[in-house]
Amino acid sequence: MTGATRMIYHFGGGEADGNKDMKDLLGGKGANLAEMSGLGLPVPPGFTITTEVCLEYLRKGGHPEGLREEVASAMASIEKRMEQRFGDARRPLLVSCRSGARASMPGMMDTVLNIGLNDETVKGLAAASGDERFALDCYRRLIEMYGDVVMRTGREEYHRALEKAKHEAGVEEDRHVPVQALQALIVRYKEIAKASAGRAFPEDPKEQIWGAIEAVFRSWNGARAREYRRIHSLPDDWGTAVNVQAMVFGNLGDDCGTGVAFTRSPATGETGLYGEFLPNAQGEDVVAGIRTPQPIRRNASAPGLSLEETMPAIYKELSGFAETLEKHYREMQDIEFTIQKGRLFTLQTRRGARTGQAAVRIAVAMTREGLIVSDEALLRVEAARLADLLADSFPEGTRVTAQRDGRLLGNGLNAGPGAASGKAAFTADAAYAMARGGHDNVPVILVRGETSPEDIKGMEAARGILTARGGMTSHAAVVARGMGKPCVVGFGALVVGEDGRSCRVGERTILEGEFLSIDGTTGDVMLGEIATTSSEIVKVLVDRSLKPEASALYRDYETLMSWADGARRMKVRSNSDTPSDAATARRLGAEGIGLCRTEHMFFGADRIVAVREMILADAKPQRQKALAKILPMQREDFLGIFRAMDGLPVTIRLLDPPLHEFLPRESAAIDEVAAQMGVTARTVRERVERLAESNPMLGHRGCRLGLTHPEIYEVQLQAVFEAALAAAREGVQVYPEVMHPLVGTGEEIRRLRAMTVAMAERILSDQKPAIPWLVGTMIEVPRACIAAAEIAADAQFFSFGTNDLTQMTYGYSRDDTRNFLPVYIAERILPSDPFASIDQPGVGRLVTMAVEEGRRVNPKLKIGVCGEHGGDPASVEFFDRAGLDYVSCSAYRVPIARLAAAQAALKALGGKRR
Ligand SMILES: [Mg+2]
Repeated sequence: MTGATRMIYHFGGGEADGNKDMKDLLGGKGANLAEMSGLGLPVPPGFTITTEVCLEYLRKGGHPEGLREEVASAMASIEKRMEQRFGDARRPLLVSCRSGARASMPGMMDTVLNIGLNDETVKGLAAASGDERFALDCYRRLIEMYGDVVMRTGREEYHRALEKAKHEAGVEEDRHVPVQALQALIVRYKEIAKASAGRAFPEDPKEQIWGAIEAVFRSWNGARAREYRRIHSLPDDWGTAVNVQAMVFGNLGDDCGTGVAFTRSPATGETGLYGEFLPNAQGEDVVAGIRTPQPIRRNASAPGLSLEETMPAIYKELSGFAETLEKHYREMQDIEFTIQKGRLFTLQTRRGARTGQAAVRIAVAMTREGLIVSDEALLRVEAARLADLLADSFPEGTRVTAQRDGRLLGNGLNAGPGAASGKAAFTADAAYAMARGGHDNVPVILVRGETSPEDIKGMEAARGILTARGGMTSHAAVVARGMGKPCVVGFGALVVGEDGRSCRVGERTILEGEFLSIDGTTGDVMLGEIATTSSEIVKVLVDRSLKPEASALYRDYETLMSWADGARRMKVRSNSDTPSDAATARRLGAEGIGLCRTEHMFFGADRIVAVREMILADAKPQRQKALAKILPMQREDFLGIFRAMDGLPVTIRLLDPPLHEFLPRESAAIDEVAAQMGVTARTVRERVERLAESNPMLGHRGCRLGLTHPEIYEVQLQAVFEAALAAAREGVQVYPEVMHPLVGTGEEIRRLRAMTVAMAERILSDQKPAIPWLVGTMIEVPRACIAAAEIAADAQFFSFGTNDLTQMTYGYSRDDTRNFLPVYIAERILPSDPFASIDQPGVGRLVTMAVEEGRRVNPKLKIGVCGEHGGDPASVEFFDRAGLDYVSCSAYRVPIARLAAAQAALKALGGKRR
């Protein structure tokens, strides 16, 4: 850092050095405080120390030269604007110190409030506020927060001392602790701090502020922050800014309060001011979820409690600010505010986090209102969040039934939409262990008093989250919505047992492992396991059980998707193996099938014996006899799929998996095959052993099977073409695309193509109607990418099988990664899971190489991808850049891929539409 670089920017109280476009330097919070100040909103004065200073501090292990002087002069500027003095016993200035990174990291970073209080200044605060109890309470909170964040004492001891004091004073709430008890508590808190940190709580305000600033810097590298960045794939080299700001108090009496307002509902997207406040409370109380807050707008279920009713003038002012901010940012805002003695202050504004459902409705509504254009609307909805709109719910009438059966435990706040049923776990560790500890797919509901950042791992592992305390903006609510998980908070009847193995709701005790069901859309909490049903969108599109007119959400979804379809370049297909799956995919917008896996057609109860007979056959005639049994069944399968995909292309992949996957293992199955084949069980056993492979993934599979046992592929090809002809004669438009898996050389595809052409000629030539068909190959072996030119000469299309391509490029067997891949990702040896999002520099390089080489030889080559990467937004963007013609993914990811493809196309145009 050079001496000329500016380290500090001012905001509030009529000053604003920065603006909203300076997030990299000032962090999101600092940039927005500056912007709000510039708009003339009532922001308490303060300053931001830049992210560059943080990085410098972390590099050097100390703050840069000159920072001390700059902070001193910035403090003097706040003193002037507040007409208070830092450390003054008569008119003490108090400040807060908060972190603020480029992107919001809720609950992850540390905050210290009330800095500047000591045994002397607390008297000045008591005199100025006319409330000694309040002043002592602020002091108590400072020691606790400072102890925890700066001196690393934890909070438990303080909480225990406070509970003891409350018990002795015979009061329930913190705010009722009497003056004398608070005085004793402050002495006790200082003893706790000293005993556990080995040094005294600093009475010198200057020492306090430096300690807090350095703690914020260090918290960037804290375990919680690192974990959050890992989960959300945020880089480690951003650093955090530090915001120091004059304190305003929401806990000076009944004309005070603090809250969070959204300019529209973050849960449903409904228009109008939305949010919660706590009267007579301090900032962190709302987020920490200690008390359950009251609504901002008039609310039928809580009459008389809303801000609109209790402080109508403040409500009106806040509504005005909300409108100003939303119009200015042209985006839904999340605004933190404090009311001090009847005066409103805005403390923060940022883009409001929202559910997928709210994201769609807000984007479409804002376009209609003329606030944004449709291209912006498309870029505003995070594609992966469309999964929320397709999420499950409990069947209608569940609540009534549960109530009747006595299984309805009650109702909390509906903080994250969707329904989830699972085994109760009362600690994050237990949730993690139950869901992941060798028992994959065990559904778990994490049940807590409230959550904290330490619970992240357990929250990630759980299907749903339930808390006793907290509001819509509590840690649990914010994190659950971010993860797209069903969540119910503020369920006041719940008491989690101290042993962490049980909870109580009224008279009911629920033990660890017992089933609970939560409805994050309604807030209902029920005992027992409840099957879930599909969303409104799924009801309209897939089940056809709801009329489009009956669902406003569906209509907005449809509008957004029609914009997406108009904006994207790439086609979107689905990976579907059955007629019903194909029909679902089509209703969700699939424009064909990119991967129809035929091996599933071999596993049915009615055919597996014939398949085994075929594999275990000693000679060709025997094998053909078994295959003849399979032929009519496969033909029927294909016919059903062609009908479901009338007018659209269907890519059929011939048999791919290693033969051992079909072999019988248990004696009953061996006996059955032996009887069918007229041989002994011993003979079957011997043949099974002969076929064993030490690494089947790299063994006798894919086109290697088709070339060594051509009769297998021939039967499949016969079934495909006969089914195509039959479908066409019914009037169905068929576009079969035969795909050969695992091709690595030109000679392989040359022979497979000849086999395909011969069969097509045998079945289709001279027949009416004519069937347009293609033959191509999966590209999933690294050699196929490198030598793509020799393969493209005999292929009409390429389809990247990115799962196998990733396995073989890295040399990872996907099924054997569980012991090292999680470590690799946690320790950043790999930036992310390459099976979830394509590894662009490695696997991606092979993809672009194959595209270039393939098109050089065969300019008409059609190219797609059919790995699950085809439904991952970041991968979709990469495939768009690589020039692919389509992506293909599972049916329920098709809408995500459509939107991601539109976003990719818009980004490629740099915001300028044709
Ligand atoms: Mg494969």
